[in-house]
Order: sequence, then structure tokens, then C-alpha cells
Amino acid sequence: MKSILITGANRGLGLGFLKALLQHPNQPEHIFATYRDPAKSQELLSLEKQYKHLHTYKIDVTDFEAYQAFYEEVAKILDGIGLNLLYNNAGVGYFNNLRNTTSEDLNKTYKINFMAPILLTQTFYPLLKLAAEKNSTLQGIHRAAVINISSEEASIKDSYGGNYSYRCSKAALNAATKSMSIDFQSDKIIAISLHPGWVRTDMGGSCAPLSVQESSRKVLKTILSFSDKDNGRYLQYDGTDLNW
Ligand code: NDP
Repeated sequence: MKSILITGANRGLGLGFLKALLQHPNQPEHIFATYRDPAKSQELLSLEKQYKHLHTYKIDVTDFEAYQAFYEEVAKILDGIGLNLLYNNAGVGYFNNLRNTTSEDLNKTYKINFMAPILLTQTFYPLLKLAAEKNSTLQGIHRAAVINISSEEASIKDSYGGNYSYRCSKAALNAATKSMSIDFQSDKIIAISLHPGWVRTDMGGSCAPLSVQESSRKVLKTILSFSDKDNGRYLQYDGTDLNW
């Protein structure tokens, strides 16, 4: 894999995944990592000073009009090599029941968790396609892939109710992954929905069983092994399939 773009890489699982990647013996030539607020992104910004191949970019993923400028900046740095992996990680969670669900929560969650990954994939599609063409003898994330960070809460079969905004936004994202996995077949770009496990982050809370490091290492190991046969899967961090 020569290039990867990670959204929401300033804290939580995005930062954890970035650190796991930076510790891996085979480094991509370029890692693009997004953040919103410099004050909440000091660790990421100091990593950028240490690693020449790490490029940070300040963007709110709901600022859809800013996507094209972001694309152009990334394309300029990639200089014709294409983008191997778009890692749609940025997300929010409002865990509400039917009584306290608000239109604001629903709107915000849909924009960040579901609309942004679709529109970002749409924007970066030419670079993903280019990577697929340039790496046609390779497979999985070494050729071209979109990984949408989903959740086990997206599962309709295994739903235990509630969590309207979060659950529905991730279920919608899963539907988008499925469409991408079909639509991109002829381009040889794979699309996958991945649940990182229940992890101790600001969103996951302190009772979660997994640490950021454990989840991130396992996620990296799992995604490095992807091949064509994994296209369209909904799975968790350790490679186990989940029910749609
Ligand atoms: P955190 O709340 O710890 O981090 C969320 C990240 O998303 C932050 O980097 C945040 O940036 C970014 N983000 C949120 N809104 C926006 C926005 N509008 N524009 C740009 N970036 C934004 O969550 P986690 O790290 O736990 O979650 C990461 C992903 O994993 C999410 O998609 C989540 O749904 C998923 N997930 C997490 C689980 C868990 O147990 N932790 C379980 C299942 C799925 P900022 O600092 O600027 O707010």
C-alpha cells in the first residue's frame, strides 16, 4: 500500500489506527490524516513533524464544499500514484431512545456518519480508480479500497433496539458499502464495512473491553490481508463476519 487517507485521525480510533500504521515495518509512501480543531489535535500535529510521509489536513467532514480543494491537495502530493485506501473513520454517537431522539441529533449523525463517507468516496473516486489501474496485479488495500468504519450496532438482524440516530446512520452506511462493492467491481476497488470492536475512546466509554491499541493493531492486521474475495463484507476488527 502506497497511500492512505484517514478521517478523524486526531483522537480515538483514528489516531490509534494511524499510530499502528506508523509502527508497521512496511510504511506507505503517503499517509493523509484529517482533523478539525488544532487544540484537540496536538499529538497528531506533533507526529506530522516527526514523519515526513504524514500529511495532516484540517477539514470538517460536513463541509462538503471543501472536499474538492482537499482532493486537489492530496492529488498534488500523490503526483500520479493514486490513493490505495480511503479509511472513513470520523464519526459521532448519540445514543438515544425514541422518546429523546431529536431532529438535530438525527441530522448531525446522518451528515457525519453516513453522508460524509459517501460524498468523500465520490470525491476521491478518481484517485482510487487510478490506484487500482496502477496496481492491477495487487489485491485488497494494496490495490484500491474503501473501508467504512461501521459498528455492530448497524446490524439489523442483531439489533437490540434503541440508539436511533447512531444505529440508523451506521445501517445506512452499511447499505452504502454494499452499493460501492457492487458499483466499483469493474474498477477493481473493494468496499468493506468494518466494526472496530467496542473500544475505550471518548465515544466507546471507559467500560469497553478493548483498548485503542489492541483494536487498532487487530484492525490493521485484518485489513492488510484483504483480497478480492473480501469485497462487500461486513466484519469486525478480528476478521469475524457480522450479520447485516
Ligand atoms: P471518538 O469520539 O473518540 O473520535 C471521533 C473522531 O471523529 C474524532 O477524531 C473527531 O474529531 C472526528 N469527527 C467527529 N465529527 C467530525 C466532523 N464533523 N468532521 C471531522 N471529524 C469529525 O470516536 P471513536 O474513535 O471511538 O470512533 C471512531 C469511529 O469508530 C467512529 O466512526 C465510530 O462510530 C466507530 N466505532 C467506535 C466504537 C467504539 O467502541 N469506540 C464502536 C463501533 C464503531 P474531533 O476531535 O474534531 O471531534
